[in-house]
Amino acid sequence: YMGSRAYNGFAIYSPTQDDESPRRLTLMGELRQAIDRGQFMLYHQPKIDIASGRVIGSEALIRWYHGRDGFIPPEEFVGLAERTRMIRPLTLWVLEHAFNDCAGLHRLGFDWTVSINLSARDLHDPEFPDLVAGMMARTGIQPDWVMLEITESSIMADPVRVLNVLERIHSMGFHFSIDDFGTGYSSLAYLKKLPVSELKIDKSFVMDMPRSESDGVIVRATVELGHNLGLKVTAEGVEDAESLRILRSIGCDTAQGYYFSKPRPLNEILAWQQSGLWKASRDSLSEADLR
Ligand code: C2E
Ligand code: MG
Ligand code: MG
Ligand code: MG
Repeated sequence: YMGSRAYNGFAIYSPTQDDESPRRLTLMGELRQAIDRGQFMLYHQPKIDIASGRVIGSEALIRWYHGRDGFIPPEEFVGLAERTRMIRPLTLWVLEHAFNDCAGLHRLGFDWTVSINLSARDLHDPEFPDLVAGMMARTGIQPDWVMLEITESSIMADPVRVLNVLERIHSMGFHFSIDDFGTGYSSLAYLKKLPVSELKIDKSFVMDMPRSESDGVIVRATVELGHNLGLKVTAEGVEDAESLRILRSIGCDTAQGYYFSKPRPLNEILAWQQSGLWKASRDSLSEADLR
């Protein structure tokens, strides 16, 4: 897309060039008004316990419905929000809606964990832990129901500062997950110092597992690494029954992917959970097991 260019087969992202393009400048201005105009929506993608086939919760994923351009993908505007200091209101909007959704589900009797993506700038913001505490008080969420997803690269930029923010939030009772695990520059030495309880294997390794031996090796090794460190392991990007079967044989804990459901509004996810569609994928799980 705009602002990317191919270089030796890799897409190189160049923020400066990006921000100066007329479309970017327009979007930047419109991003500031998006909250007031009610253009953000929170979708959910179910997270499945592989051993039991049960839905244990969901990942909340933001959507921007922009009148002129339809849906703008988060990869296009989350980075923009970070560079223009719009990320704090954006993250607070997501926290408020995800906490409210999850608290509502618990009132309905669902045992549900909501996963929420944080961005690098949130983790470098010394006021962020207090903002999270305030949102917790306003929404009645229990921190135990929340998994906050962070990436390796957002930690490694300034590990000491980030660790301080993470520890303050962790001491309130929130859990952390390392998202897109395996794609960033990380240090295994830091992994044991961080208050994390889950590794989330990046979808680039999971999607092609049935066809790629090396991806299978990476996923298996990551599950082992996580378990040996006492962490739960989730695979994102599960697109077919075969991937699920492999994950089950490896002992991976939880799965997320288009095979179950793409991200959708919460009411649609709940309808899906109670529908035959959900049962079909659960049955194919046990079928795969018999093979
Ligand atoms: P992520 O946190 O790694 O989220 C997973 C992405 O993979 C989502 O894209 C999801 O729709 C997609 N996905 C899920 N299952 C499959 C599958 O089986 N196959 C394939 N090909 N893709 C799958 P989405 O919603 O477009 O989000 C992209 C990224 O934008 C997220 O990656 C996350 O880094 C960021 N993002 C999304 N929502 C938020 C948010 O509320 N706050 C922040 N800070 N970042 C967000
Ligand atoms: Mg995520
Ligand atoms: Mg991810
Ligand atoms: Mg990702």
